Amino acid sequence: MSYSIVTSYWFRLTFPILLLCLVTLGMSNVIIVTQANLGFASNLPFVLFAAVIALGHAFKQSRIAMISTAMLVAYWVIQWRLQVPLATGTTLLELALLAFLFPIAAMLVYSMRDTSLLSKTYVAFLVTLSLFCGWSYLILDYFAAGGFTNVNETFLYIEPVISKLPLILVLYLCAVIGIAAILLLKHNRIIDAVAYSSLVLASTTFIFFHVPYISVTMFSIAAIVQIIYLLSASYELAFNDRLTNIPGRLALDSDLKHLGRKYAIAMVDIDHFKNFNDSYGHDTGDDVLKLVAAKLQEVGGKARVYRYGGEEFTILFKGKTVKEAKPHLETLRENIAGYEMTLRDTNARPKNNRQGTRRRGKNANNQTVNVTVSIGVCDNRKINKVEDVIKGADRALYKAKDGGRNQVAGN
Ligand code: GH3
Ligand code: MG
Ligand code: MG
Repeated sequence: MSYSIVTSYWFRLTFPILLLCLVTLGMSNVIIVTQANLGFASNLPFVLFAAVIALGHAFKQSRIAMISTAMLVAYWVIQWRLQVPLATGTTLLELALLAFLFPIAAMLVYSMRDTSLLSKTYVAFLVTLSLFCGWSYLILDYFAAGGFTNVNETFLYIEPVISKLPLILVLYLCAVIGIAAILLLKHNRIIDAVAYSSLVLASTTFIFFHVPYISVTMFSIAAIVQIIYLLSASYELAFNDRLTNIPGRLALDSDLKHLGRKYAIAMVDIDHFKNFNDSYGHDTGDDVLKLVAAKLQEVGGKARVYRYGGEEFTILFKGKTVKEAKPHLETLRENIAGYEMTLRDTNARPKNNRQGTRRRGKNANNQTVNVTVSIGVCDNRKINKVEDVIKGADRALYKAKDGGRNQVAGN
């Protein structure tokens, strides 16, 4: 499967649901296997979550490790407290508290930054989890005498056909999953995918808690999904360019190994970029590189864009000749030339927000600039080696520069 399919938001959105369907279909087998290896199976999530936390440390993805820690604590509570019928004592109340607090802990990571595990942020998260446990303990202590049935009779309605959990909590879990799904659709970062899939799998456990071995199954799957995302985070880190966050040289080299029968390669170079840096400063130059990279990705023809290095980019058109790629490149060149890039004047940026809104409205301190690009393109009709196709695109690029810049060359 291609990398871009696996990283698309719709794949990340349906992946945990797909796993859920597969497990549901084979739930009777899952129960038999779990029963036969109960000691191993019930400890598996602990081992897997510990692995995620260790890997999160190694890959500096502490937010994934935080979600994993929250799941580890939730699983520990389930194993330690909730392995008795829900009607016993405060068991249902304990499950309800878990179902209420786990999503809060998972969503808290959005307010945190990725650091190492030994940082203040991670410790703060651990303290928050302890506070949640302490708060739950106080509530349980308060209700210990009466049990949960009194509470649910008074203000919590349970619909046993749907779940043993109060209906309001079922709706709450669905709402949190909805928010996580929106964040995933909007940003499609790995942390969004981890938060969403962990919430889907944990909520399924809480809602269908009466199903045998559901916690072992769902939490094991959640941990495996987290490991997959952690590994893909490190892959993304290596393959994407740090400044522009588009695929970098390593991704290009890898994709050049899987070219089809027919392809065209374009080299794009920003015109007079050195002058631009000299006039506006290197930081503004970096901002412009990011904007140009984002604009380049709008190129049509199912092409893929890479940062080749510096202010040069490569566009790969699989299954196309120069003649077929050129119209897309011309449109792209025109779009970039006509694109007014707004620079934020950092020195004159207003100090307070109210002033900021007013000024933004008038656009007082925002300066707009334009850049142009020159493009050289070459295909493999008469050339065998991919290195020579790139050289051909480079020669065409020189031609475009010599011809006065802001143009596409190649035949
Ligand atoms: P030409 O039209 O001939 O391409 O002129 P040019 O000035 O763009 O060409 P040249 O290759 O001489 O200069 C490229 C400049 O790009 C040099 C450097 O200042 C700038 N540059 C390269 N990488 C970066 C980067 O990562 N950030 C910033 N801000 N500037 C960069
Ligand atoms: Mg250059
Ligand atoms: Mg240049």
